[in-house]
Amino acid sequence: MTEPAFTRRELLQRGGLIAAAPLLHACDTAVTALCADPDFLSRGEEQMRKTLQYSERSTTAAQVCSSCQFFSVAVGEGQECGHCNILDGRVNQLAHCTSWALRS
Ligand code: SF4
Repeated sequence: MTEPAFTRRELLQRGGLIAAAPLLHACDTAVTALCADPDFLSRGEEQMRKTLQYSERSTTAAQVCSSCQFFSVAVGEGQECGHCNILDGRVNQLAHCTSWALRS
């Protein structure tokens, strides 16, 4: 007889993490506005965001979209979203990508 891949305890712990995943995601999106729905991005837009490692929440407070030279807030935009000229689409003011450049 072969050993089980997981002990019962490990299985319950993993199951708990899987069950909690939607809640963790909900908490994350509650503090970070999703300015561009991933379901409506074209393949090109999706690929560009991936290539430039776009993240909805910057890990560096000094490098966020709102301080980037490629960012602008269009009339009628919400407080948390704006437009990126590089990605040619909506981005979160607190987001970041590898093309970030300080606005002069
Ligand atoms: S280039 Fe990157 S950091 Fe700058 S506004 Fe666009 S997504 Fe944000």
